[in-house]
Amino acid sequence: MRFVKVCVEAYGCTMNQGEGVILERKMMSLGHEVVKSVKDADLVILNTCTVIRSTEMRMLKRMREVSGYEKRLIVTGCMAAAQHNEISEAVPDAIIVPPFEYDRFVQIVTERFGVGDFVGIPKPDVVSAIIPIAQGCLGSCTYCITRIARGRLKSYDMESIVGRCRSSISGGAKELLITAQDTACYGLDTGHTLAELLPRIIEIPGTFRIRIGMMNPDSLEKIIGDLVPVWNNDKVYKFLHLPVQSGSDRILKAMGRRYSVNDLRRQVQMFRERLQDSTLSTDVIVGFPGETNEDFNKTTELVREIRPNIVNVTRYSSRPGTPAEKSKNQVPGWMSKERSRELTVLRFKVGLSINIGREGNIEEVLITERGKGSTYIGRTMSYTPVVIEDGVTLGDLVNVEIVKSTPTHLFGRLVA
Ligand code: SF4
Repeated sequence: MRFVKVCVEAYGCTMNQGEGVILERKMMSLGHEVVKSVKDADLVILNTCTVIRSTEMRMLKRMREVSGYEKRLIVTGCMAAAQHNEISEAVPDAIIVPPFEYDRFVQIVTERFGVGDFVGIPKPDVVSAIIPIAQGCLGSCTYCITRIARGRLKSYDMESIVGRCRSSISGGAKELLITAQDTACYGLDTGHTLAELLPRIIEIPGTFRIRIGMMNPDSLEKIIGDLVPVWNNDKVYKFLHLPVQSGSDRILKAMGRRYSVNDLRRQVQMFRERLQDSTLSTDVIVGFPGETNEDFNKTTELVREIRPNIVNVTRYSSRPGTPAEKSKNQVPGWMSKERSRELTVLRFKVGLSINIGREGNIEEVLITERGKGSTYIGRTMSYTPVVIEDGVTLGDLVNVEIVKSTPTHLFGRLVA
């Protein structure tokens, strides 16, 4: 038997996780065995993220650990594109394959490791299949290193995306996680739109649900009229991930975000008018260079006003090669920390006040993953996580009564 044992570790966003699965499949298609643990592997593929400094440090530490175990190492993902030198310095023998070279991945691996003779069955997507639909974006956000790593928008072919969805569903998946750096700009480089792609996925026969990943409000503006009705389909989670990043138009301008707070307000309202019981998830960066107390107060006021179910709070992190890195008005670390703490307290307060209102409701839930101990986690139609005691299996669609709530999730009891 001649093959390598390969372990793929993927970090960061859903997109990167999805690409990790695709790289695993590419290795299996080359006759190599995919193993779960680095210790059992001959070769490790680190699919990196470098969105903030602390993540970059974690990636470099993991690279050194893996090469310390004397394993062959391939580094992929955003860091492979945006920080080639840092990787070569840390692990000089690593093979670096940036995302824009993924179409050469098979050739690179074959040249280095040959084709193996391991015959393995690709592990099916358990319940959730991650479906990347494009790489890169049309944004020019001044803080963002992903733009440097992923480049300008390259939408994937619509037929191959639909084909991937179809094979995932026939392979047993009950949930499709549609993902990209900005799903709303899908097809704007190929003459298509997300509003065209989704109905093609919805028409695939079977009982399954679709979660649509992060959208930049700027891109959404171009297609919102056609997109909102699609959300009403029974297969589409009533989940909207719309990163606002700041409640201050002055800061949005400095961030290179091409929409106003009012644009976002209007977009949220358009969805909420059409969708009963939807989930709004947003992202906020606190401590962006030049952010004053007044700017920050506008952000907290906006959160109190639009009451997002989820707010992903990130402290600004200066990234190499980004325009904001050169900004003089850096916000002191203690102040950024204090703002992050204040906004986190607020978002949990808002989250709990929304979830308390759902206690006693009967909700249809798709069981998507195992929880702690003997519990399972399911998702309501608004993609809210519900913890359920035993008595279900992955992929089940069950009715539950909501018996308890927290700021981030619910607890449910099975009902007939
Ligand atoms: S839309 Fe902005 S934040 Fe998102 S990946 Fe593109 S540049 Fe980065």
